[in-house]
Formats: sequence, structure tokens, C-alpha cells
Amino acid sequence: MKTAILSVGTELLFGQITNTNTVYLSNKLNMLGYDVMYHYTVGDNPERVFDMINLAFEDCDLVLTTGGLGPTQDDLTKEVACEVMGDELVLDDDAMEELVSYFKNLGREMTENNKKQAILPSRAKVFYNDAGTAPGFALEKDGKYIICMPGPPREMTRMFEKSVMPFLESMSDDVIYYRMIRAFGIGESQLETELMDLIDDQTDPTLATYAKEGECSLRIASKKKSRHEAKEAVDRMLETVIERIGDYIYSCDDEELVEVVCQKLMKKGLTLSSAESCTGGMFAAAVTDIPGISRVFQRGLVTYSNEAKMDELGVRAETLDEFGAVSEETAVEMAEGLKRVSGSDICISVTGIAGPDGGSREKPVGLVYIGFIYGDKKLCKKVLMRDVNRKWNRHYTLLSMLDMIN
Ligand code: ATP
Ligand code: MG
Repeated sequence: MKTAILSVGTELLFGQITNTNTVYLSNKLNMLGYDVMYHYTVGDNPERVFDMINLAFEDCDLVLTTGGLGPTQDDLTKEVACEVMGDELVLDDDAMEELVSYFKNLGREMTENNKKQAILPSRAKVFYNDAGTAPGFALEKDGKYIICMPGPPREMTRMFEKSVMPFLESMSDDVIYYRMIRAFGIGESQLETELMDLIDDQTDPTLATYAKEGECSLRIASKKKSRHEAKEAVDRMLETVIERIGDYIYSCDDEELVEVVCQKLMKKGLTLSSAESCTGGMFAAAVTDIPGISRVFQRGLVTYSNEAKMDELGVRAETLDEFGAVSEETAVEMAEGLKRVSGSDICISVTGIAGPDGGSREKPVGLVYIGFIYGDKKLCKKVLMRDVNRKWNRHYTLLSMLDMIN
């Protein structure tokens, strides 16, 4: 079903808030097999909201709106939707009861304008709001549907999960099954080249690639009469994908790289420590974001200056003099020093030039060395990122460190 998402709210046009509702809904709708064709954003103005809904219906059979369902004067989505769909507003007894009990539970006075929220289109399928006061609803006319939900993301996502999603699922005969594959170390264009034929002659399952902050995702989806059939089709395609690019894949279930790495270490009962220069503790922060990692992670040192590298890790002054702080030799000595002080099974070190300045011809911005010790394995990996963006370089370095452990 062709679908549009309409965000209502002047604050969105001012750039004061980020439109997270549209991102969330697009994601969910695509998963459910709805084709999202348009994103619209409009201010709290009834004429323009009216025009936008009609415009969306020119090409789409389903419009989802968020925002403008509240009790205040500027909240007009419900009135306008009702007008477009040729319905009238009536008092909904159940909605009123919900409202009364909501305020009673909160111990707060229900004001006159709150009562407005129990007035709903007469033909509406009402979605109660258990995170706030404004109910949402679905309304149909001549095979076209509008679904209106409140603006606050917490209320909207809750209503979507609990009521709207089952409603949408019940409208479609088909079942969608999909998997998100994540890969590192392969660019989006290379990924596409490797899988070109599969992407080209796809009807079902479909294959789509996405680039995402240094990583690549691949979505394999199938729409069939039963979940079982769809899953089989997806899994068959996944086998082919793994045959071709398996070396780069780190998750077939849309997990973060850091999650995958940490789970692995936890399962194997290995301990880990890090000594970071250019990432300044990002590695330690990422790893300690994972619950239960205390069994694994022992030390995260930030040795930014040459002195710190010498004092904390015993990197030799001659090494720093001769090869520089950003060198294979320094990275290795950092890892060796870390092994001495921590005794961890896995020791990882990093030193590099994050930019935007500070590079030279021999050592450009984006040059990084990652030292790694595990058992009798001692490695150093050189990574050269062709970018002067400090944030990007540090992020990509973090991923490279995790990839090395994985
Ligand atoms: P309320 O009862 O809170 O007035 P409402 O349905 O009228 O609910 P709005 O007034 O349009 O919703 O928006 C309330 C708040 O929700 C906004 O100030 C904003 O912080 C947030 N919000 C609205 N729309 C979006 C959106 N598309 N993405 C993210 N946040 C949003
Ligand atoms: Mg409002």
C-alpha cells in the first residue's frame, strides 16, 4: 500500500526539534511491507494541513499523521482529518472514561480543554493513549485510510506498537519477513558490485544496501502468504550472500559491532584492556556501554602525550624519537606495555592522527596504527582513512579496533 507520513507542527519547521517520528514510522512501515512514498511536514495551520492530506491522497492510500492532537487551540489535526474524510466529531464515551481515569490516577484536575480530546470522528477506530491524554484514531473513506497519532515521540511510539501496528497488520494479507545484515570493511559500492545480479533481478526476496557511518547494512526481505514461506526465501538468499561477502559480515541480526565483539568475549571468558591515544577513551566508553562487560574489560588507559605513553606503558623514548608517536613501533610497544600492566588476554592499543590538522606527507591525517596482542599473536594494523574530519576518523578508528578483535 502506498503510504505517506505527514508531520504536523510549526516547531518542526523552525528546526527546533528533530523529526524523529518520521524516521521511526518509516522504519516500521517498511518492515510491515508498506511502501512509504512521501514525507511531508507542515505547520499548525488547518488550511495547509487540509491541502497536504489531500495532496498525499492523490498518490497514496494511507496517510499517517503525528502531532496536533493535543488539547490546545493550535491542535487541529483531528478536525481537519475529519473534514477531509467527510465525518463528524462526536463525544466518544469510552475515550471520555479513559481521560477521566487518566487524570484521576494522576491526581490532577481535568480542564475544560482536555474534554476536547474525547471528541472523535464518529466512524473512527480509536487508539487509546496510555502514555498521555490524546487518543489516536484510524478513519477510512472509499478505501483510503488516515491514521492520526499524537506528536510526543514517547506517546506516538507506544501507541504505534500497541495499537496501530496490529491494525496495519490486519489490513494486509501478506506477511513480511526480513533480516538486517551488517558488514564492516567493505564499501557500499563494492558491496553492490558483489551482489549486483541479486539486486538487479530481485522481485522477492528484495535486497537493499545501506551505507551507515563506516559500515554497510543489507536488508533482505520477503513478502509471502505465511511467515514460514517468507523466512525460507530470506534464509536461502542469506546463504548466497554469506557465500559472497561472508568475510565482512559481523551480524545477521542487526547488532552493533561492539555488541557482537563483547558478547563473543563474554562467552569465551576472555579479558580485555585498551590503551588509547587518538580515540581518547572512546573504545573504553563503547565497550563499557555493554551490560555485563565487567567480567571482560579490565583497564582502559588514555595515554595521549608521549610522557603518558612512556610513564604508563613503558614506551621507549628512542622509539618515539626515531619512529614518532604515530608509528607501528609505538603502537606495538603500547600494546606490550599494556600487557605487562594489565595481564589481560587481549590487549589493544591505538595511535593515530585524527585531524583536521597535524598531518604530513609521510604521515597524513587519518593514519592510524592499531596494536593487538592475544596469546602469542602480536599484530599491528595500519589504517589509512582518506578524510580530514576528526569525528569521522575517530569513529572509524573505533570500528577498526573492534573489527580487529572480532
Ligand atoms: P500534545 O498533547 O503534547 O500537545 P500533540 O499531539 O498536540 O500533543 P504536538 O503539540 O504537535 O503534539 O507536539 C508535542 C511535542 O511533541 C512537540 O513539541 C515536540 O517536542 C514533539 N514532537 C511533535 N512532533 C514530532 C516529530 N515529528 N518528531 C519528534 N518530536 C515531535
Ligand atoms: Mg500540541
